[in-house]
Amino acid sequence: MTANKYYIGLKPDIQYLPHTDLARVEKAIEFAQKWHQGQFRLSGEPYIEHVLSVSKTVAQMNLDGDAIVACVLHDTLEDTPVTQNDIKKNFGADVLRLVDGLTKLDRIRISSSWLWPIKTSYREVDRYENQVDTLRKMFLAMSKDLRVIIIKLSDRLNNLATLNYLPEAKRQRIARETIDIYAPIANRLGMGEFKGQLEDLAFPYLNPKEYLWLRKLAVPEIDTRKKYLKKVASRLLNKLQQGHLKPVIKYRAKRWYSLYQKLIKYDRDIKKINDLVAIRIIVPTIEDCYNVLGQIHSLWQPIPGRIKDYIALPKPNGYRSIHTTVFCDKGVITEFQIRTPQMDRQAEFGIAAHWHYKEGQSSSKIPKMKLQWVNELTRWQSRVKSAKDFKDALKMDFFSDRIFVYTPKGEVKDLPEGSTPVDFAYSIHSAVGNQCAGARINAKMSSIDTKLQNGDVVEIVKNNKAKPKRDWLKFVKTEHARACIRKVIGQ
Ligand code: MN
Repeated sequence: MTANKYYIGLKPDIQYLPHTDLARVEKAIEFAQKWHQGQFRLSGEPYIEHVLSVSKTVAQMNLDGDAIVACVLHDTLEDTPVTQNDIKKNFGADVLRLVDGLTKLDRIRISSSWLWPIKTSYREVDRYENQVDTLRKMFLAMSKDLRVIIIKLSDRLNNLATLNYLPEAKRQRIARETIDIYAPIANRLGMGEFKGQLEDLAFPYLNPKEYLWLRKLAVPEIDTRKKYLKKVASRLLNKLQQGHLKPVIKYRAKRWYSLYQKLIKYDRDIKKINDLVAIRIIVPTIEDCYNVLGQIHSLWQPIPGRIKDYIALPKPNGYRSIHTTVFCDKGVITEFQIRTPQMDRQAEFGIAAHWHYKEGQSSSKIPKMKLQWVNELTRWQSRVKSAKDFKDALKMDFFSDRIFVYTPKGEVKDLPEGSTPVDFAYSIHSAVGNQCAGARINAKMSSIDTKLQNGDVVEIVKNNKAKPKRDWLKFVKTEHARACIRKVIGQ
């Protein structure tokens, strides 16, 4: 095998792979280079450069050899004469399955007017149906192998970086689609870093005026806030060092797009944004995290109700950390986030952090992560009758924030925010839902339309004479509960 500059460029990023995989990646690069020969991006760079950038991004998440090889080959089926057989023969069935999944996803074009229509005309119905179908494929691909989605998100990230070379209409479509579809998916997989990068690259194209307004408003304020936090941190550091804690402290300005959304909610008043710059205290162990929390509270008074223990009760997308907001020096309301290095990595890469390559483990042994919500989505999407049902359900169940709720035995249920005991009951079993007569939330009798909170322990009081009531349709949140109720009351 001849050394080639593209392989040499990628090599430092994939050192974690075993030698046999490195050789396969090298072979894949030669293969892709041969077939993409003479193809250029609108930016003028050879096509292979795009392939390599995407591979570097994926390698950051330490995905296995098959995934990196598939990444290098990800555009060959679509854009070159290469056949499925060529890929299978040279790189195996697993790589082919990944590349094929990526090629199919590539054909998906989702317009946001479908998800958030301003006005709906009959002519658009056909388009709706088409897009429902493509979304279904997307979810199906996701439930089969999340690596496909992770590579796709990396591909999108790289495409956004060269968006300025595309014609205006195409730019708009890609930017919209990124904010409406890709970023929420990254978020749902706990890939906070990805979500932020995707949104921030798309935002200036989507709304250039607002973007400029925001930068002008926020840049000086972020500076001021960072200076303040550095003073606060040095006081905290002193205190922690007395207790023999050696933290790493990170400052992170809020991402542009998420800052923008928050500002809209807060009358565009930047003084009202407490987490403009986050201060993160990273310590080796979970025990240290709680220790740091205590030290912070001994220095400054915490604001009641603002201590969030996502270590004991992680968010459904896997996010873990302790957050606390205090009246800090000079009375400035300040949020601290406390976590271990592992949690920090998870907050960046989400689900992908679980693929962290372990020495001596063959790629086929890396477990395929299956998420409850992905399975649920694919299960019910086949039952949904019209495109409108599907769209409504999707907006509700997929893009809403989620809560974790527990059965008395500690089994966890992942539900959309605002769910009630009836939703919870149906998530256990339709028979439990149908006989739901009451609920004990954290051991207290509560009405069945109470909005559940993250971490609630819910026990359903059943009565075998009970029946679902039409009224329930007014407060249930999940499409699953709604469909079950309708089935019984006959509507
Ligand atoms: Mn691509």
